[in-house]
Amino acid sequence: SIVVTGATGQLGRLVVADLLERGVAAGEVAAVVRDEAKAADLAAQGVELRVADYDHPETLKDVFRAGDRVLLISANEVGRRIPQHTAVVDAAAAAGVALLVYTGVLGGPDADFALADEHKATEEHIRASGLPYVFLRNGWYTEVYTANLAPVLAHGAVIGNAGEGRVASAARADYAAAAAAVLAGEGHENTAYDLSGDTAWSFPEYAAVISELTGQEVVYRDVPGEERQAILVGAGLPEAFAAVLVDVDHAIGRGLLARTSGDLSRLIGRPTTPLRASVQAALDEAP
Ligand code: NDP
Repeated sequence: SIVVTGATGQLGRLVVADLLERGVAAGEVAAVVRDEAKAADLAAQGVELRVADYDHPETLKDVFRAGDRVLLISANEVGRRIPQHTAVVDAAAAAGVALLVYTGVLGGPDADFALADEHKATEEHIRASGLPYVFLRNGWYTEVYTANLAPVLAHGAVIGNAGEGRVASAARADYAAAAAAVLAGEGHENTAYDLSGDTAWSFPEYAAVISELTGQEVVYRDVPGEERQAILVGAGLPEAFAAVLVDVDHAIGRGLLARTSGDLSRLIGRPTTPLRASVQAALDEAP
């Protein structure tokens, strides 16, 4: 089977949908989920559910079978992910899966910012497992930004500490299509792909796109890291997570998320979704 972890998450749902659209039979697809109720729609389509929680390694014992092609979608609790991912990799290795595909971070070992640490440790553990692997080193999802349009429009400003740094983001659906292409395709074993959008944009350009599409003036306000930290905490983010976001913008300022390798558009066989299209989609969805 093709086994997708995190299948009830935003990326995982898109990967499963993409696999089915590609003609993979639903019965050949298995979804690893921790909450079966959340996956009722997947089961209704004929996708096999395998229930497990990364925090309870014993639940992972029966979710993989010899010969499975597995997508490990990185988990979402920063700081807990090394033991969680280790448990999944160990279970996959014990079962003897045929391929382990992992969603890492753009730049892989070169990504020298805090948010990348758990991805780097996971890649190392996967290599050490001896399993055939594919690293999908994902750049930023454009939705990371467009999900935050309401406060941007309320303040008329995008606030960050990335300076003139650029982000080669792509739509979540683009990364999902790449994962599906690798899972359903052949010849990707032991490869690392740097996946990112075809075009790297700057925050002043992002603000200009929002202005153009809404008719409302939106500017980019670049602030020092400490000020950004205070703004994020003031908006209700925990200190530690605010610090991670400030650190990410500093990395963007150093150019680390601007790589445009072309791997993503090559894997999906089409250009990546332009920034403008993702902003428009978010505006169309807004209540
Ligand atoms: P989501 O938060 O929507 O999905 C995360 C998935 O992981 C969910 O299905 C969740 O299950 C599952 N999960 C988390 N913890 C556990 C656990 N203990 N046991 C079993 N399953 C678990 O994130 P996205 O789909 O949007 O993104 C996928 C991943 O990509 C993120 O988890 C994160 O690592 C990374 N990411 C990358 C970004 C980028 O810009 N490149 C931006 C944001 C995240 P459940 O559905 O039950 O909650």
